[in-house]
Amino acid sequence: MKLLEDRILKDGDILGEELLKVDKFLTHQVDCQLMQEIGRVFAEVYAEAGITKVVTIEASGIAPALYTAQALKVPMIFAKKHKNMTMTEGILTAEVFSFTKQVTSTVSIVSKFLSSSDRVLIIDDFLANGQAAKGLVEIIKQAGADVVGVGIVIEKSFQPGRKLLEELGLEVTSLVRIKKFENDQLIFMEADA
Ligand code: 5GP
Repeated sequence: MKLLEDRILKDGDILGEELLKVDKFLTHQVDCQLMQEIGRVFAEVYAEAGITKVVTIEASGIAPALYTAQALKVPMIFAKKHKNMTMTEGILTAEVFSFTKQVTSTVSIVSKFLSSSDRVLIIDDFLANGQAAKGLVEIIKQAGADVVGVGIVIEKSFQPGRKLLEELGLEVTSLVRIKKFENDQLIFMEADA
């Protein structure tokens, strides 16, 4: 997605060897027009796939997931990282190691929001080692639902997340694929949409 590559080149900051900061338009301040376009592109890719739910993980997956769900006209569910007192019903959980926080947390979705008839599209902001998406797959499978695909806004292809998800038999659609960071420059490779 050329628009997104251009925005990353304009507003993204490389942090060290493996991290990209995109807080000007995605992970803190959110560019809603860009998110809407991202949602439109994901929805176009999965238009014929019979998606019934879009699932993401809080917090930064919510913006692209919401616009994707709106474009597909289905609900969006975000997995919670902290259980709270209103979650009184049955919950589905998975352990997820956070790449950016370097801690493992239990993420959960209340079971009534997913059922065995659901066909789910997972959306997330970044793909690094694949642990967030893998945790969501585990939760969705506990509900007996199908994971149709994983839509990623920014894939860091030099990390093993895509390989892990493909080995689980999942289709990955990344809007931007970063091959490497070289001398503080971003080198892109051909993306999926
Ligand atoms: P994974 O679970 O694939 O290792 O990492 C994906 C999650 O970690 C995403 O949900 C995202 O929040 C965070 N993440 C991974 N890499 C980056 C990065 O380079 N920049 C930012 N801002 N978040 C990242």
